[in-house]
Amino acid sequence: MDKSWTKYPRFSHEYQEGVKRFILEAKKHARIPDMVICPSRSCKHCCQLEDSELYNHLVMNDFDSNYKVWILHGESLEVPQNFDLLDDDLDMPEAHMMYDDAYFF
Ligand SMILES: [Zn+2]
Repeated sequence: MDKSWTKYPRFSHEYQEGVKRFILEAKKHARIPDMVICPSRSCKHCCQLEDSELYNHLVMNDFDSNYKVWILHGESLEVPQNFDLLDDDLDMPEAHMMYDDAYFF
């Protein structure tokens, strides 16, 4: 999902167009049809609004900048793909010895 618009001032064209795109996208993932959880700075996801009200909230109150991964609006948390690989490497005794060698000799 495009998030670049959240950095623009609330009254800019970029921000307001971004809000509209966000609402369209978020409605596809809404649990209650046409009701989207409001990520405005004042609501912080406490209420669900329909699109015109949500638009007003996001323009009047700004987007909650602490909301980085939009898991309530269709995004999923990303797990690093090399997570298991990294874990295995750390358990290899050879790797530890090489590490020690490099530092103490
Ligand atoms: Zn709100």
